[in-house]
Amino acid sequence: MQNSQQYPINEIFVTLQGEAGFAGTPSVFIRLQGCDVGCGWCDTKHTWKVNQKNEIDFNNLFNKSDDKNSWATATATQITRCIETNYPHIKHIVITGGEPAMYDLRPLCQALENLGKDIQIETSGTYELKIPDSTWVTLSPKIDMPGGKPVLLKCIVRANEIKMPVGKLADIQKLKSFLSANQIPANTKIWLQPLSQNKTATNLCVEHALLNNWRLSLQTHKFINIR
Ligand code: SF4
Repeated sequence: MQNSQQYPINEIFVTLQGEAGFAGTPSVFIRLQGCDVGCGWCDTKHTWKVNQKNEIDFNNLFNKSDDKNSWATATATQITRCIETNYPHIKHIVITGGEPAMYDLRPLCQALENLGKDIQIETSGTYELKIPDSTWVTLSPKIDMPGGKPVLLKCIVRANEIKMPVGKLADIQKLKSFLSANQIPANTKIWLQPLSQNKTATNLCVEHALLNNWRLSLQTHKFINIR
């Protein structure tokens, strides 16, 4: 295992997880920089490029505003020390992005687990996952996105839950094709998540959750105006 693995970190912050199965759970979010999937409606486009000119010192990460494209390099040891210092009582850690699976997450997950933390990652499923068996995987399948990257079967099978962003009926149809084309383990929970709290998308998600015995994931944090 590479303990020297460096991670480009966009931000580390504490909030309540607002989405899917862990909604309402106090969580430390570690947002990694870097993504080449290219979703048009992405609300973290500032994380896409790992541009050297935007690198800042890890100690300055907490002084930046939340939507900036600046990032800092840190090792698993630096990250865990930071979390231990600032949020020692928070048990749940969410590693998100960007696309966190672009990186070998085993050293980071292992170091956090050694602190007694539970780890969840949020991924598009387009990169092979390098994580321990104990990590909870929330797969938000980004199907037919401009980056042209397929959702990998290995990620689909490994997912503990699938959270589909829905803006229109075509997204539900994409999900149905995706589920029937792949062998999804029977215990994988399926969530429909309306894009941007849109009323039409929400109604669509409610209707199809009821029709298909799927679940509704609202971005709770956005309704109560927290991060
Ligand atoms: S995979 Fe996530 S971070 Fe990347 S473009 Fe899509 S929504 Fe944005």
